[in-house]
Amino acid sequence: MWRAEIKSVNLEQVMRLAQSMVTHFPSKLTLGITGTLGAGKTTLVQFIAEAAGIEKESVTSPTFTLLQTHRGSVTLHHMDAYRLHDEDEFLELGVEELFEDDAWTLIEWADRVRDVMPTDTLWIDLSPCEQSDLRHIEFTSECSKLHAHVSHLDRIEIQPE
Ligand code: ADP
Ligand code: MG
Repeated sequence: MWRAEIKSVNLEQVMRLAQSMVTHFPSKLTLGITGTLGAGKTTLVQFIAEAAGIEKESVTSPTFTLLQTHRGSVTLHHMDAYRLHDEDEFLELGVEELFEDDAWTLIEWADRVRDVMPTDTLWIDLSPCEQSDLRHIEFTSECSKLHAHVSHLDRIEIQPE
């Protein structure tokens, strides 16, 4: 498991980070996005959508719709595991098929279904800073290939094991 982080980013920097992710990351990817309510999970997905040429406003909090698919320069499957009761309910949604798709599957609250997430998931944790408009962003994954992609991001600090 490797770890990398970007400290104290404002909204505009999150937007630039999303652009850089769309530029550097593979077209098939699973992102497990974690962090408390209001941490900025949906905001990150909106910036990723915008960077992929998708109207940002079409990306809403998927808490009630469970799955939204958006097609841009990359296809985005956007989900939210917050209201799921257990991993079975998550699997019943057909997520394993999504994981195989040549697309990005972005799952908010993915820590709730961690046991059935793919081993090559790129985990992104957002956490608040003392200053209310800033966030810390931490990337972790078991997938060593993804480490090379993440190392291209601006301001990234790779942490020793
Ligand atoms: P979540 O999906 O994690 O519950 P949202 O993305 O819906 O969170 O909400 C995050 C809120 O925090 C948004 O209103 C966003 O504009 C605001 N915000 C302020 N600064 C930042 C930042 N640096 N990164 C992300 N969101 C931020
Ligand atoms: Mg959200």
